Amino acid sequence: MSARILVIEDNPTNLDLMTYLLRACGHTLLSASDGESGLELSRREKPDLVICDVQLPKMDGCEVAKQFKLDAALHKIPIIAVTAYAMVGDRDRLLAAGFDGYISKPIDPTTFLQQTQEFLPAERHAAKLELPQEVTKDERQENSQFWATVLVVDDSEVNLNFMRTLLEPFGYRVLTATRPNEALT
Ligand code: MN
Repeated sequence: MSARILVIEDNPTNLDLMTYLLRACGHTLLSASDGESGLELSRREKPDLVICDVQLPKMDGCEVAKQFKLDAALHKIPIIAVTAYAMVGDRDRLLAAGFDGYISKPIDPTTFLQQTQEFLPAERHAAKLELPQEVTKDERQENSQFWATVLVVDDSEVNLNFMRTLLEPFGYRVLTATRPNEALT
């Protein structure tokens, strides 16, 4: 059985990545792009798990977590912070605010799914945690019948890996570049 998960995140790229990954595992996704509407949606929908960015418009993630712990209807719903803060002490600050756990950005697709799963009861775990298998290099060379060759240009290695994971299982050949010159070559 899968879970209903709310992601509160104001960065559209991060929101898309997280919702894509969780949906691919069979979960039902809800989303909000600021703290206030995230809290309101939580009260209305009572999701099984909330994944919450820390820096958010209207109400920051720490305040959302604090409100969760003060609300009898919400305080048992696990709420996890997703943040780029890597400084020592931040983990304690987040837990003190009311978060039940912490996932650091940038999001790594595989560990992200494992980490979120840990906050769900066993009966709400995804049926499968694996993403579509990346085609091995040998298979790629043997299979010359590609649908198309796609060049992805992005300076983030995480985004490049994400695009490979998305496109290669469908038979696309994915070339990547991190800089404009490299892409032109
Ligand atoms: Mn943010």
